[in-house]
Amino acid sequence: MIGAGIGGLTTAIALEQKGFKIRIFEQAEQLKPVGAGIILANNAMQVYERLGLRKVIEENGNPISILKITKPNLKPLSKIDLSYFMI
Ligand SMILES: Cc1cc2nc3c(=O)[nH]c(=O)nc-3n(C[C@H](O)[C@H](O)[C@H](O)COP(=O)(O)OP(=O)(O)OC[C@H]3O[C@@H](n4cnc5c(N)ncnc54)[C@H](O)[C@@H]3O)c2cc1C
Repeated sequence: MIGAGIGGLTTAIALEQKGFKIRIFEQAEQLKPVGAGIILANNAMQVYERLGLRKVIEENGNPISILKITKPNLKPLSKIDLSYFMI
């Protein structure tokens, strides 16, 4: 497997759970936080649920109930209510 990004790591976990022996090759010398968060949408969380990772992700993340696109002064340009999708 090439690349320890979210795609490579998720694929590796899925294949490992199916009994494959996985080896990941990553060009970066170190995996470390880059100071940014990532939003995991519902379709992604359905995959993590099937992999048995939903609970650990939820315990280490923050649920989002609303998404706002704002001007630099934080005056909202648009709002998306995500509470409908929360389980
Ligand atoms: C600023 C920003 C914010 C984002 N926010 C979100 C978000 O909130 N929610 C969301 O769902 N998506 C978000 N995305 C998109 C998301 O980050 C990408 O879709 C996702 O990271 C892609 O994952 P990946 O594993 O396919 O690729 P990558 O994360 O790019 O991972 C590929 C890995 O492969 C390694 N690699 C590459 N070539 C080689 C090689 N030849 N040999 C060995 N290793 C190699 C790289 O070093 C890297 O670690 C955001 C993207 C950006 C730029």
